[in-house]
Amino acid sequence: MFLRKKVCILIIFCLLCVIFAVTACSTKIKCPENADAQISQRETLVQISTIDALLSGVYDGVVTFETLKKFGDFGIGTFEGLDGEMVAVDGNFYQVKADGVAYPVSESMKTPFASVTFFDTDREVQLPEGMNYGSSAEFLDRILPTKNIFYAIKIEGTFSYIKTRSVPRQKKPYPPLVEVTKNQPTFELINVDGAIIGFRCPLYVSGVNVPGYHLHFLTRNRDAGGHVLEFKLKQAVASIDNTSQFLMILPGEDSDFYKARLTEGTQDDLEKSEK
Ligand code: ZN
Repeated sequence: MFLRKKVCILIIFCLLCVIFAVTACSTKIKCPENADAQISQRETLVQISTIDALLSGVYDGVVTFETLKKFGDFGIGTFEGLDGEMVAVDGNFYQVKADGVAYPVSESMKTPFASVTFFDTDREVQLPEGMNYGSSAEFLDRILPTKNIFYAIKIEGTFSYIKTRSVPRQKKPYPPLVEVTKNQPTFELINVDGAIIGFRCPLYVSGVNVPGYHLHFLTRNRDAGGHVLEFKLKQAVASIDNTSQFLMILPGEDSDFYKARLTEGTQDDLEKSEK
């Protein structure tokens, strides 16, 4: 009887050891103190999956918007099944569906590709009237301190013209993005107030994100928008958030991402799909 009690105590002790070990292992690793000071979530561009995965038709959701919101209050992306264009500003997330209308995003929805950050303005500049996509990009490029970091960009004001597009929800087996965008619905808005939301990524991100500018639009009434193809400014202020940190979250083991061929050059497909 006494021996059995001893064995019992030994088993309980072993179990406690296992529980302690598991708890210790799952505790987050803390950065060294000097690194800690330099790492700031507010200065980090957080990206879900890669642009080449999206181009090759990996449209299954990777994270919920409930999770994505923890990584940023500002950004762009798309939805599970490629169900429209995502645009987020001031912590409010919108889905511009294939009808061009902006709908609020529920936290349980998922994204297969998105880029977000917490927006803090580092520089604000008035953009000259009459500028279009190309000349605004050149203007901003000239005032950026370097082309080698990421920038979150917000252009708020009145647009005499803006052309956007969205994409319709796809069914499996998913076609590549370049096939979907061949028949993309486009929208032209005249004299509209709103905000262009997006990023300028360094050219070296090719394959991972969109090199250069990738911009989405949301009207001031937050009722329409999409992926920006062209615009002409009436009056607008550009706010720039210098972002020198980058975190990438890749899809899990059960995802098509594991089997996707991401070795081929996709620059042509990217030009056709995004520009
Ligand atoms: Zn886009």
